[in-house]
Amino acid sequence: MVVIEKERFPRYHIGESLIPGVHPILAKLEASGEVDSAGLCRKYGVTLLWGRTRELWSVDFSEGSDYDYIYQVKRAEFDNLLMRRARLHGAHVIEDANVTDVLFEGDRCVGVRYTMNGSDQVTEIRARMVVDASGQSRLLARRLKLVEWHDDLKNVAIWTYFQGHLTYGGRKAGNILVENMSDGWLWFIPFSDNTVSVGFVAAAAVVSKMSMSLHDLLEKEIAESLEVSRLLAPARRVGGIRTTRDWSYTCRRFGGPGYLLVGDAAAFIDPLFSTGVALAMNSGSGAAEAISAILAEPAREAELIGLYEDTHRSFVDSIIAFIRYFYDPDKDKEFYWAEAQSIVDPGKERSAREDFISLISGMSPTLTGVSFEKMFEKREVTPIGG
Ligand SMILES: Cc1cc2nc3c(=O)[nH]c(=O)nc-3n(C[C@H](O)[C@H](O)[C@H](O)COP(=O)(O)OP(=O)(O)OC[C@H]3O[C@@H](n4cnc5c(N)ncnc54)[C@H](O)[C@@H]3O)c2cc1C
Repeated sequence: MVVIEKERFPRYHIGESLIPGVHPILAKLEASGEVDSAGLCRKYGVTLLWGRTRELWSVDFSEGSDYDYIYQVKRAEFDNLLMRRARLHGAHVIEDANVTDVLFEGDRCVGVRYTMNGSDQVTEIRARMVVDASGQSRLLARRLKLVEWHDDLKNVAIWTYFQGHLTYGGRKAGNILVENMSDGWLWFIPFSDNTVSVGFVAAAAVVSKMSMSLHDLLEKEIAESLEVSRLLAPARRVGGIRTTRDWSYTCRRFGGPGYLLVGDAAAFIDPLFSTGVALAMNSGSGAAEAISAILAEPAREAELIGLYEDTHRSFVDSIIAFIRYFYDPDKDKEFYWAEAQSIVDPGKERSAREDFISLISGMSPTLTGVSFEKMFEKREVTPIGG
């Protein structure tokens, strides 16, 4: 397997708060021990200032998922660890290599063309299956015009870093805090080095009408917040102001002859529930299962790609449906829990609160890679020559 990566790791990336749905994939990569001993901030749950009553409430992952905690990560370190793991498992990783084109023969994807950074020399590489994991560059989706934007989730994110902040005590010390504001929401993600990532997300249309710089807007939102401003009262800013377009989209197809799309290359969902890395790792794992099945039984390629697509799409669609519901901040928390239940547990086998936690943990068996494994295990294997 060849991995072609534009940057040289470690490299900065946004997406710092993980959810427990990442654990099963770390286990498959035999990376759980290394990650757990890396000194990362342990995130036992989520604290919210969200909903009609404007009160602070928290959920603990142990109430609704198989795992007690997950991590807040600097992506430079976390992704570098995963890249090392890929090499250990035999992947040939080419860094500083920019994929400039995807090669097709008819409608079949057969490889890519890339150049090394700083060089004009073009190299072509062919593969039986091509996986587009290019994130928001979404190389294949652009080429095949697959992107469908979610017009109601066209947001802008602005963030920076602080030190010297207050923290919660005990199990809540590593929680992400999410605070709803009148025109958006704030995140507060603590790391183990006593730095905290603080960001503001708001509709792009709202931000473009504001006559102030993004820096001033972030400062204003923090100043007007209840809980984030309290925790930041003694803190000082230690990073520059960063910003990105945060527009949700889903591709019309997640695969086709010779190719699969994973992670943000397939769909990007608003970061409200910190689901991006879990979706990327889960879909990467599902794509790997699908490809090994396809290589064993090439005649079933279309069917197996369809299975991959259906499973990942149901995960993506469920999260988007719930985010849309959650963006209405005028409900009681019990309403949000009930909505989560209607998505992941319509038979009401567990309490609505457990279903909410299971959904935001990315752990609901109806949504995750557990079903990928089952799906590909269950397939009927046609004996060779039979
Ligand atoms: C404001 C904001 C906050 C977020 N917060 C969270 C969060 O708290 N938790 C969370 O889980 N997610 C969060 N996300 C989402 C998260 O960042 C992504 O969902 C996640 O990184 C997707 O992983 P990926 O592997 O698909 O893509 P990426 O992590 O973007 O990786 C894609 C890789 O492809 C490489 N690449 C791109 N183009 C090329 C090319 N032409 N040739 C070669 N290589 C290329 C890039 O260099 C990159 O390394 C957030 C997103 C935003 C915008």
